Amino acid sequence: MQLAASQLEAFVTEIFVAAGAVENVARQTAGHLALANLKGHDSHGVVMAPSYVTNIKRGFLNPHAHMSVVKDSGGVVLIDGGTGFGQVVGAESTAFAIDRARDNGIACVGLRNAHHLGRIGTYGEMCADAGMVSVHFVNVVGHEPLVAPFGGAEARLQTNPFCTVVPRVNGPPIVLDMATSFIAFGKVKVAYNAGKTIRNGALVDHEGVPTNDPNVMFTRPGGSVQPFGLYKGYGLALMCELLGGALVGEWTMQPAHERTGTVINNMLMLVLNPEAFGGTERFQQEIDGMVDYLYATKPAKGVDKVRIPGEPERETFADRSVNGVPVDERSWQELAGAAKLAGLAEDAVAKYAA
Ligand code: NAD
Repeated sequence: MQLAASQLEAFVTEIFVAAGAVENVARQTAGHLALANLKGHDSHGVVMAPSYVTNIKRGFLNPHAHMSVVKDSGGVVLIDGGTGFGQVVGAESTAFAIDRARDNGIACVGLRNAHHLGRIGTYGEMCADAGMVSVHFVNVVGHEPLVAPFGGAEARLQTNPFCTVVPRVNGPPIVLDMATSFIAFGKVKVAYNAGKTIRNGALVDHEGVPTNDPNVMFTRPGGSVQPFGLYKGYGLALMCELLGGALVGEWTMQPAHERTGTVINNMLMLVLNPEAFGGTERFQQEIDGMVDYLYATKPAKGVDKVRIPGEPERETFADRSVNGVPVDERSWQELAGAAKLAGLAEDAVAKYAA
């Protein structure tokens, strides 16, 4: 089925309210998820909602938590997310970091113990909207590892996202926002739900043999997702683990730490004010010139044009804002199941299915 993002947002808001969240928190979280769908990242869209409801019910997600400052050293601030909705404590921490960077030129903010932060680009885009550059190193803990280190046949890491965003005055921001795995795990789940295969190079089975079958991630003994870019991607994933996980969260993927099946993100975020360097004007001139230079590249055979990071998401946004978001049957059934678990009346679910 094809649904308007506003419909998905409204449905998921109702689900979260029924699960115990207050209206504005539920709407903020649902809005973040629906925006991820609009930008083409279905893996980080409303398909996540059922796991959030389950984690509320299990006591692993506190729908009432807000950010709290643990340690404030001026330029460096440590924040605890209290296992709150990542979309809420993540946005609060980002707004806090932006304010600090306005005053000091730079803010280095660590957010630990946030429930799943969703699409990290959202926080980078908040920074860009405020005219700031941002860099985000994130690790993922609380459940079994999924990603094999380079050269390994067993999973030891998660899909640890890395993001950096550069603001533009004369155009949309440049948004590099990516899992350090070859593919975000949510995309494996989306393919699994839709009965589709996965592209070459993303997965290996439990013996380390390459496969296109997403089922290997949902059966035992399980397979692994590969890091992107061979040992370079593995290296960046490790840095996310050490900077987001060890430095900020004090919680890495080592087996001695809890693996209850929840999803906790720890994030190290650097927010930089261009005014503290050579100023916005020169910075922007140089960016514009570089972007034009890249756009003028002769496309490779079979490619329509060279793009800038963040552009595919904007193209999908433009399309889905008009044509709606595709939702496969299994994902819809999972959402309906989450609505039931949350205690939402059946006629409310039927209203959205109609
Ligand atoms: P992706 O591979 O689709 O895109 C990665 C980056 O490459 C994006 O910045 C995109 O704009 C850019 N890009 C894509 N095609 C391009 C092209 N032709 N030219 C130039 N740039 C191009 O993204 P992904 O790695 O699958 O990650 C998806 C999402 O998952 C991200 O939003 C990420 O934050 C999120 N994620 C979150 C978690 C978490 O724990 N919260 C974990 C992993 C991933």
